[in-house]
Amino acid sequence: MTKPEIIYASRRKALVKSLDAKAFIAYNYEHSDRATLRYLTGFTGEGTLLLVGDDGVLLTDSRYTEQAKREVGELHVHECRDWMAKDAAAEIGARGLDRVAFAARRVTYSWYDALRKLGEFALVDVPDPTNDLRALKSPEEIVALRRAAKIADEALRELVPELRVGMGEAEIALRLEWLMRGAGSEGVGFETNVSCGENTALNHYNPAMGGRALHQGDLLLFDFGACVDGYRSDITRTLCVGRAPKQAVEIYSLVLKANEAAIAAVAAGKTGIEVDAVARAVIAEAGYGDRFGHGLGHGIGLEVHERPSLSTQSKDTLAAGMVTTIEPGIYIPGFGGVRVEDDVVVTASGCDVITAFPKERLIEVGT
Ligand code: ZN
Ligand code: ZN
Repeated sequence: MTKPEIIYASRRKALVKSLDAKAFIAYNYEHSDRATLRYLTGFTGEGTLLLVGDDGVLLTDSRYTEQAKREVGELHVHECRDWMAKDAAAEIGARGLDRVAFAARRVTYSWYDALRKLGEFALVDVPDPTNDLRALKSPEEIVALRRAAKIADEALRELVPELRVGMGEAEIALRLEWLMRGAGSEGVGFETNVSCGENTALNHYNPAMGGRALHQGDLLLFDFGACVDGYRSDITRTLCVGRAPKQAVEIYSLVLKANEAAIAAVAAGKTGIEVDAVARAVIAEAGYGDRFGHGLGHGIGLEVHERPSLSTQSKDTLAAGMVTTIEPGIYIPGFGGVRVEDDVVVTASGCDVITAFPKERLIEVGT
């Protein structure tokens, strides 16, 4: 197996090569760009990364110096005693650079403005080059994503027999997270969404928003993921508490049909727009077109939303080694929503589905 240090160095090389500039700067503060720093160096803390050709320096502060030394191998670590932007400007100046690329969507305007005023160089906005590189996963990254998907699947399998009418959304979410962490997940992949009843119509519901309890006939939606070596799975399953109402069964079978049709359409060479359109057509033909407002899917990896995008606006074409979600849904305010979300690894001729919790019918639980 290739040593992590060598992998990080080759990623840094690929990144600088992809740019029309000799140097690149990235900044992670309060998780603003932890994926870039982790992907390019292995560092999981806060700091600034300056890359110049094969050379690079990681600037951080005393809270992270020891951690950085453990995580980044040979890469030079600079401990800032003053203001990090000042030290970053000095590092850029010392290398005689007149242009440095950065990804505007990853930094704050105040960071940009401070750095710009401190030095005699131009900061050139480039559209998130690390995110582009991260779209194609290596076999090692796919192993971590498969493991994260498996942990999520198994946690839900273990939880289902415990569900009872009267249990609260937050209590269920906590139990799910407990099961995932017990099975080796690093925290959670993202904020766990457990919603029931009319709350299932809110796409990004958080149990802290309502704290509703399970009632007979409720839809019960789980949208959650585990995290392994920084890589995040993202699965949604919609179940029903007790006997499912007719409308819930009807919506469920449509969403499932859209999910399966889209999965069958995934292959290298297909565009994000084409695959999205397959699912959208199934839902629109049944008259629910305006109840499916979001995109069909998104890449997963060190972040829960990354390239490729599968949507009506997508500019991406699928390639073997990309890992994406497929998540059509139908949401009816006041009644509830259904979403069925799987994670798939794109292959030359199709895809491997790496989420395995059963979805073939609307499962009745809690009785
Ligand atoms: Zn999700
Ligand atoms: Zn998702």
